[in-house]
Amino acid sequence: MTKKITDMINLGGHVSTNGGIELSPERAAKFSFSSFQIFSKNQMQWNAKPLEKKAIDLFKESRKAKKISSVMIHASYLLNSATSDSGLKEKVRAGLSLEIDRADLLGADLLTYHPGSRKEASLEKGIQNVVEILNSVIREDQNVKVLIENSAGQGNSVGKTFQELASIIDGVLLKDKIGVCLDTCHVWAAGYDIVSPEGYKETMDDLKSNLGAKYLLGFHMNDSKKGKGSGVDRHEQIGKGTIGLDGFRNFIFDEEIRGKPMILETPKGEDGYMDDINELNSILR
Ligand SMILES: [Zn+2]
Ligand SMILES: [Zn+2]
Repeated sequence: MTKKITDMINLGGHVSTNGGIELSPERAAKFSFSSFQIFSKNQMQWNAKPLEKKAIDLFKESRKAKKISSVMIHASYLLNSATSDSGLKEKVRAGLSLEIDRADLLGADLLTYHPGSRKEASLEKGIQNVVEILNSVIREDQNVKVLIENSAGQGNSVGKTFQELASIIDGVLLKDKIGVCLDTCHVWAAGYDIVSPEGYKETMDDLKSNLGAKYLLGFHMNDSKKGKGSGVDRHEQIGKGTIGLDGFRNFIFDEEIRGKPMILETPKGEDGYMDDINELNSILR
């Protein structure tokens, strides 16, 4: 029998919540995913209607029935925690708190967010802003872990290098509530080699020596439209971009990260995941 990627790694994808958040575990199960990612609210708005108890209960029941091991929430894109603007800071604080509350209500394991852009401020100041916000919103009694997503480096976004991610974690007080989500497209666009086996090893060694392996809690599995070091965040279907299957082979066969959720965020979403899965399966043949 041919091996299937969904039996081998903890594969997932970002799925829609159209028609109700409680429908999302079923959408993930259609692809035999063992994990999935959703927005718990409109990702382009600050506010949201409170989650209803009925929907929460159905969501949890369905997640259990579909044997989903990890639920990752992707936070709103508006939450620029690197900002030096005090008015925006207040909104980001409230917005991130709301995301944490909603993630906990849903019993989600991970809440991934983009640290944001420092604009004209220095890198040091940008990192300081991120740390300040995280320390003001992360609570001892929350269950969900907040994951900082690495950036491609576009628009002075913070979190491009492993050193930057390490500095953020360094400043966070409640370290058991924090981690990193490594996006394959972003890390490649930021200039790290993940395609050649030697380059991949070097990149992962660099990550581990800066961050410590224990903070690497999830992945976004995306191919990239633009090349290594382009600084451009443009996802592509698996195997169709500049990373290609050679790059994904490195991640799939890396036993040190086996079992961690690997979430597809490819451009066609649910319409493209079967193709992505077929590409990943072809690596196993
Ligand atoms: Zn991502
Ligand atoms: Zn991206």
